[in-house]
Amino acid sequence: MRLAVLKERRAGETRVAATPETAKKLAALGCSVAIEAGAGAAAGYPDQLYADAGAEIAPDAEAALFGAGIVLKVRAPLGTGEGEIDELSLIHRGALLIGTLEAIANPERARAIASVGVDACSMELLPRTTRAQSMDVLSSQANLAGYRAVVEGAAAFDRAFPMLMTAAGTIPAANAFIMGAGVAGLQAIATARRLGARVSATDVRPAAKEEIKSLGASYVGYEDEESRAAQTSGGYAKAMSPEFLAKQAEVVAAHIAKQDIVVCTALVQGRRAPILVTEAMVASMKPGSIIVDIASDAGGNCALTRPGEVTVTANGVTILGHTNWPGRIANAASALYARNLLTFLTTFWDKEAQAPKLPEDDDLVRGVTITRNGAVVHPGLA
Ligand code: NAD
Repeated sequence: MRLAVLKERRAGETRVAATPETAKKLAALGCSVAIEAGAGAAAGYPDQLYADAGAEIAPDAEAALFGAGIVLKVRAPLGTGEGEIDELSLIHRGALLIGTLEAIANPERARAIASVGVDACSMELLPRTTRAQSMDVLSSQANLAGYRAVVEGAAAFDRAFPMLMTAAGTIPAANAFIMGAGVAGLQAIATARRLGARVSATDVRPAAKEEIKSLGASYVGYEDEESRAAQTSGGYAKAMSPEFLAKQAEVVAAHIAKQDIVVCTALVQGRRAPILVTEAMVASMKPGSIIVDIASDAGGNCALTRPGEVTVTANGVTILGHTNWPGRIANAASALYARNLLTFLTTFWDKEAQAPKLPEDDDLVRGVTITRNGAVVHPGLA
């Protein structure tokens, strides 16, 4: 079966859905792998490495997709009027498309995919179960985003993270505060600790408190009946009431004024990110402090974040509001993303037919399938 990997054309996307390593393994499964020329360039994977791994380098998207029964992408293919080419129209009827298609937020996209008869799996919808861990693109990408956020925060900070005792005197350790202790936040805590900062963190889910402490950070937060029930059955945080957020803000306000680095990672599924850092909190921070907002794709946790931009406030606080944080560490992010997709395909690979077989009664398959046989089938899109 021919498997195509396209170049990512959406603005700011630097990752690629297969690496030379996974291209080789996909070929070993029985796929003939076609990589669109330049697909891995922005992530540091030149065409030659794919060719060395046995892949065909196709000159353009149309050539890569010609006859392809499987298409791997990071982001959704461009549809009509979305960019330089209409990638979706080039994908064959009956082909299987796998990527982070963000279909729930874009139901018209799901309808467009169904209308061309493409069966699509939107990997960000994978249930967060133990069995799914090795295919979990949200976790693999959030992990790297959390790491990268601290490293970029440290680079923008013109003091030191660890306490430095020198003959010329002592530089104190930086105070780092991580807001949201999910996958990205826990990695941010670990990274800031490795760099030598004094680390504290907050979250609303009760389970997060122990996880924060187990990484050697101190917990800062407000707890009440509402926070004790703040976790959904899927493991995510619920949207908290304005009353709770006001109490939480009181606790955070006193703490944040003493922080040098604040890393914002708090998200609530399907909603705008909660505002946890108000304008007044930013105004209370010392000049030279850094806010790294990796919730910026969902609007940001800081009231002053401008998604996609770096801003410096009147009191000298720098806010890194970049979007697509995994794309800022594209080589490693692609390596993990590509392995997630490879594992998904391997798990559901029919060796005899040399083709994917996606059982409709499998919880992972049901979770990610958005279109099948020309229809939109995901319950979230009903
Ligand atoms: P996420 O990206 O949806 O949110 C990031 C964090 O922000 C979460 O910890 C959330 O509780 C927190 N948050 C939301 N509102 C907040 C507020 N007002 N103040 C402070 N923090 C707030 O979360 P995620 O990283 O995708 O993780 C979600 C859950 O899934 C976690 O419990 C995680 O451990 C779990 N998970 C499980 C598996 C598995 O294999 N079982 C895999 C991955 C993740």
